[in-house]
Amino acid sequence: MGRIQLKQVSKSFGKVEVIPPLDLEINDGEFVVFVGPSGCGKSTLLRLIAGLEDTTSGTIEIDGADATGLPPAKRGLAMVFQSYALYPHMTVRKNIAFPMKMAKMPQEEQDRRIAQAATALNLTDYLDRRPGQLSGGQRQRVAIGRAIVREPSAFLFDEPLSNLDAALRVGMRMEISELHKKLATTMIYVTHDQVEAMTMADKIVVLQAGVIEQVGSPLELYRTPRNRFVAGFIGSPK
Ligand code: ADP
Ligand code: MG
Repeated sequence: MGRIQLKQVSKSFGKVEVIPPLDLEINDGEFVVFVGPSGCGKSTLLRLIAGLEDTTSGTIEIDGADATGLPPAKRGLAMVFQSYALYPHMTVRKNIAFPMKMAKMPQEEQDRRIAQAATALNLTDYLDRRPGQLSGGQRQRVAIGRAIVREPSAFLFDEPLSNLDAALRVGMRMEISELHKKLATTMIYVTHDQVEAMTMADKIVVLQAGVIEQVGSPLELYRTPRNRFVAGFIGSPK
């Protein structure tokens, strides 16, 4: 599962409408990238889906059920934060186990899920280290591991690689794409980086000032950008 539908969803902060009513459909297993310049509303849109912000109007359905008023923990989604959100004093194992411990999951099940996440992320040899003893890329993998063990119906990433250096970023991009193939779970990935969008996405959602300018595959956007903004942003010749 992992089908998400936004129907006439809008968001205002005070009197400022940062997202006018929009519709968006995300299919099960899709890798969807929200892309657009800084301040265009990517994070806000992701936070609305996560339940970290309340919608001003409209409805959000997850797997066919109305999730509009549900708190984040009841949506079955997992937000992947940047690696600096790890607990420095805890081992990798404990960092990954944290959401399961909070949920009072039986220890055996916790161990099973940790082993599974560690295998998927090549972290098996690092479980007893602390974040400070890991590279930036490994730390980011631990942050993803903490999301995987919740077995969410979708993963939500907000610019997870923006604090990594350029070389590491390329590697992590590939790792996240690989992980998507392995898990076959819906992923929504926010970035302001066109290259990330073009290389990772099944479906790109181009945003400008809270408005969806176009939705399509990388190839569709490249070949038939709907307007100059999309063309300019995607780097196609229109
Ligand atoms: P992006 O992630 O694309 O850079 P954001 O979603 O963070 O953009 O922000 C979109 C707009 O909403 C910006 O103009 C930002 O200043 C505004 N905004 C975001 N969060 C808040 C908030 N909590 N209160 C007021 N304005 C906000
Ligand atoms: Mg943002």
